[in-house]
Amino acid sequence: MTTIADNLRKLLAEIPPEAKLIAVSKNQSVDAILEAYQAGQRIFGENKAQELITKAPQAPGNIEWHFIGHLQTNKIRQIIPYASLIHSVDSFRLLREISREAGKQGRNTRCLLQFHIAEEDTKYGLSLEEAEEFLDQWPIPDINHVSLCGVMGMATFTDDENVVAREFAHLHEIYLHLKSKYFPLDDSFKEISMGMSDDYRIAIQHGSTMVRVGTRIFGHR
Ligand SMILES: *Cc1c(COP(=O)(O)O)cnc(C)c1O
Repeated sequence: MTTIADNLRKLLAEIPPEAKLIAVSKNQSVDAILEAYQAGQRIFGENKAQELITKAPQAPGNIEWHFIGHLQTNKIRQIIPYASLIHSVDSFRLLREISREAGKQGRNTRCLLQFHIAEEDTKYGLSLEEAEEFLDQWPIPDINHVSLCGVMGMATFTDDENVVAREFAHLHEIYLHLKSKYFPLDDSFKEISMGMSDDYRIAIQHGSTMVRVGTRIFGHR
């Protein structure tokens, strides 16, 4: 039986040093998180507000928590104290609300814009058109408690690696386009969050800087 530490070691051997591993601990116990922590892992991702706010206070304080799931506006207030990066900003209404709440709490919250790159229409995310319509006005004076740090996307759930590769290449292009058009001098805008247990290798080949891996670290649950 392989342990969480073994799984982490294998993964880290495959991930280039410039990319970060986000250990997706959704549905996992605090004990499982501690096991990964003791093996050296420091960045964890949760996709439900309730799970994040329950587990984070029970875990070591120097863990960097990322929020990776669909975020409802009524949950923003609770996650702001914990979330060092929100990967899943899929509307500008949401971004505005995050900024407002971060401001109230005296914080600045780092965010990624989530793009819809998959064929399936079940996945959340912005289109390039929507993003540009908004970013044409960026920076917006009353949205000043968030930093835009890059993009995030999820590929189609399929065994066809060509489809997945095409979608990740597309997200990389979106990133490069936005970077050159809106953020050329902004060093914070640098992240491409893509790749999960079944497709992180393809994501890395296409320039991922953050892979979000759950099952391959913690097993099925
Ligand atoms: C669950 C989840 C992951 C990790 O998925 P695995 O297949 O378990 O690696 C990554 N990103 C998001 C947004 C998720 O919800």
